[in-house]
Amino acid sequence: MIKDIKANLKSILQLTLIMSFPLLVLVIFGLFLINDFTLFFREVGAIVLITAIFTGVILLINSFKIKKISLFIFQFVLALLVAIKAFFYFTFGTKPSASAIFIIFETNAKEVSEFFSSYFNISILSLITLCFLVFIFLIINLFYKPKFFQFLRFHKTSSIFKITLILLMLFSGYVLNRSFSEQSIILKLSHSIKEYNIAKNYYKEHLAKPKNNAINIISKDEEPQLGVVIIGESTSKWHMQLYGYNRETNPELSKLKKELFVFNDVIAPDVMTIMSLEKVLTLSDFENPKIDNNFSVVQLANAAAFETHWISNQQPVGFTESTPTIIATAAQHKKFLATDSYMYTIYDEALIPEVKKALKTKSKRKLIFVHLIGTHRIYKKRYPESYNYFNGVNERTKFKTKYSKEKVNEYDNAVRYNDFVVNEIIKLIQAENKNSFVVYFSDHGDDVFDTQDFVGHHRHKGSKPMFDIPFLSWFSKDYLEQNKRIDTLQSYNNRSYNAEDFIYSFSDLINVNFKGFDETRSIFSPNFKTRKRIIKKGLNYDTWKTNIDSEN
Ligand SMILES: [Zn+2]
Repeated sequence: MIKDIKANLKSILQLTLIMSFPLLVLVIFGLFLINDFTLFFREVGAIVLITAIFTGVILLINSFKIKKISLFIFQFVLALLVAIKAFFYFTFGTKPSASAIFIIFETNAKEVSEFFSSYFNISILSLITLCFLVFIFLIINLFYKPKFFQFLRFHKTSSIFKITLILLMLFSGYVLNRSFSEQSIILKLSHSIKEYNIAKNYYKEHLAKPKNNAINIISKDEEPQLGVVIIGESTSKWHMQLYGYNRETNPELSKLKKELFVFNDVIAPDVMTIMSLEKVLTLSDFENPKIDNNFSVVQLANAAAFETHWISNQQPVGFTESTPTIIATAAQHKKFLATDSYMYTIYDEALIPEVKKALKTKSKRKLIFVHLIGTHRIYKKRYPESYNYFNGVNERTKFKTKYSKEKVNEYDNAVRYNDFVVNEIIKLIQAENKNSFVVYFSDHGDDVFDTQDFVGHHRHKGSKPMFDIPFLSWFSKDYLEQNKRIDTLQSYNNRSYNAEDFIYSFSDLINVNFKGFDETRSIFSPNFKTRKRIIKKGLNYDTWKTNIDSEN
C-alpha cells in the first residue's frame, strides 16, 4: 500500500493538485460570498467529497487513454459545479435553490438563456472563467504539450491499494448522500426532477382536460357575455403611473381612467411566474397548494358554457411543458405565438390580431385569456424602437449607477409599451358593444433598483415591488346595467387582496356559483371580507416591515 503510493507519489500529487483546483476557487470565493459558516463548510465539504471520488476513479483506471478522457470530463464537471455555485452566490447571495432549478426545467430555453444572460457581467464572467482555468490549461496542453499528460502513466498498483481506494470512494459517496445531499447539485438536480415530475402529473391530471368533474355548478347565468382576462408578466405597480409612479408609463390607460376600476392593494401569491399562476388561475392557495378537487378558471369557464380561447405570447414548451401551458390546454381554442421565437422577439402587439380573430367566432358566450410576455427581462427586447422613450436618471431609483439608470429606463419603456397593448385590447372589447368585461393583472412584479441593488424577480430577493401587482378591470355599460350589485365597485378599490383568490373574483364576474364558491373572497363582491395574506414561507404580507426578508 505504502509502496504503491511511494512509487506513484509524483503522479498522485499532480493529479490531486489538478483535480482540487475548482475546490480551491470555491474556498476563495466562498470566504467572501458565503457569509454563513455552516453553509460554507457544507459547500466545501460536498465538493471535497466529489473531488475525492473523481480522483479515485482516475487512479483506478488502467488505460492511459481513458484516464486522460476522464481527467477532462471530471475537471469540466467540477469546474461547472463550482461555477454554478459561484453564479448563484454572486448574483442572488444564496445557494442554487430548488426553485431556481425548477425554473430552469419549467421555463422555455429562451427564457432560461435570458435569465442567465441578463445577470452576466464582467465580474461573474471572470469568476466563472477562473473556475475553468485548469480545464482550459489542460486543453492547451493537449494541443501544444501532449507530454504533460505523462504523469497519468502510473506504476502498477496492488489489489490492496485498489480495494482501499474503492472503499474510500464508497464511504465518500455515502457521506455525500447522507450529509450533503442539500448541497450536492447533482443529487439536488435528481431530487428536483423527481419532485417536478410529481407536480407535473398532478397538474396534468387536474387541469389539462377541458372538462373537470370536480366542478359542481350550482347556478349559472345564461346571458350572452364576453370576458377577457389579460395576464401580465413581471409588471410591478411600482412603475405604473396609474399607481402614482412619477413617470408617464400609462399615457393610454390614464386617459381611460374614468372607466377603469383600479384596485390599489393587490399582491401576487409568489414572485415566480409558475408558482404564482398555479395559484392565481386555479382553486389552490397558500394553505392548500395541491388540493384533490383542483380546477382552473379555464375549466370553470368551459363548465359555465363559455367558448374559451387562450392566446399567448409565452413559449408553450421548452425543456418540458409549463404549468400555464397545461392550464391553457383546457381551452377550446389555443394560440401560441412564440412557438419558435429563438431567432425573433415577438412584441405583445402581435396578440391583438389574434384577439380580433377570437372575437369573430359566432359564440354568444365567450372568454378570452390573453397571456402577455409583458415586461419580462430582458426589458429592451419587449418593445419596438419607437417606445424608447425614457432617458436620464429617475430620482426614485434607490441605487443610482450607470447600469441601474439604463435598466430603469428600459423597464419603464416596457411598462409604457405594455400600457399601449392592454389599452388596445380594451378598445377592441369596447368596440364590440356587448355585455362585456376586461380584467388585467400581472403574475408578479420586478424590483428594478426600487428597494435593493437588484433587477428582476427571484424568491430569495423577494421584495414588495415583486409582490405588488396592478389589478384593474373595465366593464361595458351593458355589463354594469345587468350586474347592479357592482354599482358600488368604485368604493372597493382599496381592498387588500391576494390574487391567489382570483378564481372567486372570476366566477363572481361571470355569475357562476359552484360548490365551494366563497363570495367573501371575490374582490368584486359586496360581501368581500379581508383575509390574511400569507406569502413566502408563512410571512404575513400586511405586517411585513423590512422590505427584503430572505429568511422567510
Ligand atoms: Zn412571471
